[in-house]
Amino acid sequence: MSDLPLTRRMMLGGLGCACCGGLAAPAGARIPPGSLRPVVTPGYRPVDADEQGLWQQYRRVEEEIAGSNLLIRDDALARYLGGIAGRVGGPAAKDLRIYLAHVPEFNAFMAPTGFMVVFSGLLLRMRDEAQLAGVIGHEAGHFLLRHQLRAWRDMKRKTSALTFLGMAAGLGYGATGIYAGGLVQLAQTGAILSLFAYSRELEAEADAMGVKQIAEAGYDPAAMPETWQSLIAETEASAAMRRKRPRRGYSLLATHPAPAERMADLRLSAREVAGAGSTERGRDRYLAALGEHRRAFLDDQVKLNDPGATLYLLRYLASDGWNGLLRFYEGETWRLRGEAGDNLLAGRSYAAAVAYPDAPAEAWRQHGYQLLREGRRDEGRAALRRYLALAPSAPDAAIVRQSLAS
Ligand SMILES: [Zn+2]
Repeated sequence: MSDLPLTRRMMLGGLGCACCGGLAAPAGARIPPGSLRPVVTPGYRPVDADEQGLWQQYRRVEEEIAGSNLLIRDDALARYLGGIAGRVGGPAAKDLRIYLAHVPEFNAFMAPTGFMVVFSGLLLRMRDEAQLAGVIGHEAGHFLLRHQLRAWRDMKRKTSALTFLGMAAGLGYGATGIYAGGLVQLAQTGAILSLFAYSRELEAEADAMGVKQIAEAGYDPAAMPETWQSLIAETEASAAMRRKRPRRGYSLLATHPAPAERMADLRLSAREVAGAGSTERGRDRYLAALGEHRRAFLDDQVKLNDPGATLYLLRYLASDGWNGLLRFYEGETWRLRGEAGDNLLAGRSYAAAVAYPDAPAEAWRQHGYQLLREGRRDEGRAALRRYLALAPSAPDAAIVRQSLAS
């Protein structure tokens, strides 16, 4: 653990920009997946002073992240993610490192040195391993094509001398050993953010490289446009229920044609690389690897109190079939929104949840109280008894026992 661990805000402010960085850029021509070749080789090291400087900074960032209390430390899951990176990482397969950060946002970020930060909110949104491989393949594509260096040089060319000096001072903090402070400053000045605000062209290249890598690894390349389509739909669903414009990072999605074009490009590219045998989805394997984390990530998502996005997401995940867990969190989403009539909707979801064998114990508790409110006393009491049987040492078990006794 470092002295000043990364906070969630720093992560979001400083690093969480890779996936949506290209949304603001004007649309360009599609890049055919077959036209790209990785420019890094196994064990790649920086070649010139510019790149060496960039690597030096990011080695420190990696140290900081590796010690962050935001990391999810699960060796089995880490091995699983590493295994996918090994399959879709091309020449960088052995050099890629993935850190899983506990941040309920849909994002991932690739450093120029070969480490990747994947947010827990991204894992929650993946329906199978092929979709996850697509995201990892896209991020690996930025590394394989040395995009960070290109973006960095591009920024230096465009940024005014004054701004650049200010940023260099921020970077300088790192070199003096007060690195955590330097990182705060970096995040605040938006230096890292500017670095990875990739152009539309670089995003298109990473898409093309990613779709090629996953198809060559045997994954269904159609998984990539699915993820993009779902991100657009979720953003729209969130805005529709909030009755306002989509949130910050994705604010351009609603009005700008680029995301839709990017999705269309990905669909064309996916068809181009779809070969015999590239059909693997790995859904069961993915869900097994995610294990109990899925519930924790759903819990995080529901607590964001963004019912439009959450309800969209639950239905999206349920396109592979509803289960007790998804129905329970559907109920929780309605309950937390708490508008007129939401209690009834929540009650319906809890009732649906307990019909599945995987319903969490809490679904029985909520179902029980809902039945009691409806005056269905015996059924309600039976549901609460079921809750106590499933979770005898729950923090509220005593209270539930009391209400059963009364
Ligand atoms: Zn990207």
